[in-house]
Amino acid sequence: MKTAKQLLISTIAVLIFFTGYAQKPKYIFFFIGDGMGIAQAQLTNQYYTEKEGAGLSFWKFPYRGFIATDATNSYITCSAAAGTALATGQKTSNGTISMTSDHSCDLKPLTIYAQEMGYKTGIISSVNINHATPAVFFAHNEKRGNYYELAMDLPNYGIDLFAGGGLLSPQGSEGGMPCAYENAQKKGYQIPNSLSEFKKTPKGSKVLFSSKKALDSDILTYRIDRPEDYPSLGDITAVSAQVLDNPKGFFMMVEGGAIDWTSHDNDAAAVIGETYDFDLAVREAIKFYEKFPAQTLIIVTADHETGGMALGSTRMSYASDYQALSNQKASYNAIADKISKAIESGSSKEQCMAIIADFTGLGAAVELNEAEKAELGAAYEASLAFVNKTGEPGREYGRSNPLAVKAVKMLAEKAGIGWTTWSHTAVQVPIFAIGAGAQEVSMAQSNDDLARAIHKIITGNNLEGVPCIKK
Ligand SMILES: [Zn+2]
Repeated sequence: MKTAKQLLISTIAVLIFFTGYAQKPKYIFFFIGDGMGIAQAQLTNQYYTEKEGAGLSFWKFPYRGFIATDATNSYITCSAAAGTALATGQKTSNGTISMTSDHSCDLKPLTIYAQEMGYKTGIISSVNINHATPAVFFAHNEKRGNYYELAMDLPNYGIDLFAGGGLLSPQGSEGGMPCAYENAQKKGYQIPNSLSEFKKTPKGSKVLFSSKKALDSDILTYRIDRPEDYPSLGDITAVSAQVLDNPKGFFMMVEGGAIDWTSHDNDAAAVIGETYDFDLAVREAIKFYEKFPAQTLIIVTADHETGGMALGSTRMSYASDYQALSNQKASYNAIADKISKAIESGSSKEQCMAIIADFTGLGAAVELNEAEKAELGAAYEASLAFVNKTGEPGREYGRSNPLAVKAVKMLAEKAGIGWTTWSHTAVQVPIFAIGAGAQEVSMAQSNDDLARAIHKIITGNNLEGVPCIKK
């Protein structure tokens, strides 16, 4: 016979098991789609729903909200200020890495609170690991551009795992400084050379898996340009979760960093690729949620929106044709490179337009009217001046290679997608959440609020005042 006390305990245990509530999550996944506004996510969701019958995994998460992203000195934030708020619960000024806006104090990031509570910690990004969004979780700096200092700070907090893009300026901007990879190695980090080596990381050791070492590239190659045997952000997240798994659980931040970079290029097809790649990482977290629903928390959000993407364009009025984007076979970067090389080697206008047709479908599978042909013609002339350094391409072309810029932007507009800027915008960004604590995090109203809600879940306490680490 069970005693009344035993019955009460087992009833509570059953309730916790079935509701997934009132239990501190063991596995916390914090996904940040850099530059991922609602339009980037909705476009990717609809594109894949049309194409494959299934869209983004996180699109249907049961808890959702919106957060304000403004910095202390601007409605429009950069990734450093937005990341600082998401990592520390304290807003700061643009350009600042986890310090207050007056730079008087270093702010304590969630990764360190998680460590203190016994979690293992991991930081993963599709772009450079010492770029602003990952850096706010392990470093402090007055300037986000101090890449070498940020790279040297990498081992300081003893974070268990770093994975993704290579370190920028590992020997300083001029070269010749002590190597940041060697610094990490000296401080106990293993640096595997391949995904399979990364998988074999012995339990308990610290690891830095860098695409610079594994693939000899700075960042994870954009999905649209990626050879099939290259790892995705999902592959890296899966291995990271396996390496970090332990009886006390882990806190993992995963950044889809190139959603921002491709949005800066107003390159809608590449944005879809990067947002989908980011979702592959979320799907790895969902595997944990499916096994341990009461012990897993998944948060998917963004630091800000980039590009002013809108799902509607003047060229298309009320129509949309997202599948037109499947004609694009390479990123803006790769197409620009091809156009520059063609012009440098003396190719004709017709040959350049053939490259555009091959890689965007414009003038081939995607029909052009006379006005559009004239627009591409003008962009070609501007590209000649750009490549031969006889003229500035101007703001219309984002000061980049005009013909490639115009082609990817025109294809996007013909798919029914508009862009307003080459920079970030001030609009709020979405939160999607599922699992233990999902409701609490979805109620956050701004990026600093969200970090404070996560802090409460990790520690059980409210984050009071400014979380300074004394220098
Ligand atoms: Zn950006």
